[in-house]
Amino acid sequence: MKLFLDFNPCKECKEMMLEFNSEEMIFADDETRAEISSRFLRHLTYNHTEVVKAVMDEVKAQKRSPEFDLYK
Ligand SMILES: [Zn+2]
Repeated sequence: MKLFLDFNPCKECKEMMLEFNSEEMIFADDETRAEISSRFLRHLTYNHTEVVKAVMDEVKAQKRSPEFDLYK
């Protein structure tokens, strides 16, 4: 599932995105990556409800679309 998010990242978001794209992350193990992704998701959940809402709407929209049936 692809999601296109249109929101204004705050300072913390930008810091985490930089962390995602840093060289250490490219060579980091799965556990470290998972840790940072869940930290980012938690941050979005608590600080950017508009993003969470957009994701929920997108999930609902994709479930409704006829193409969705092809991938069941
Ligand atoms: Zn943020």
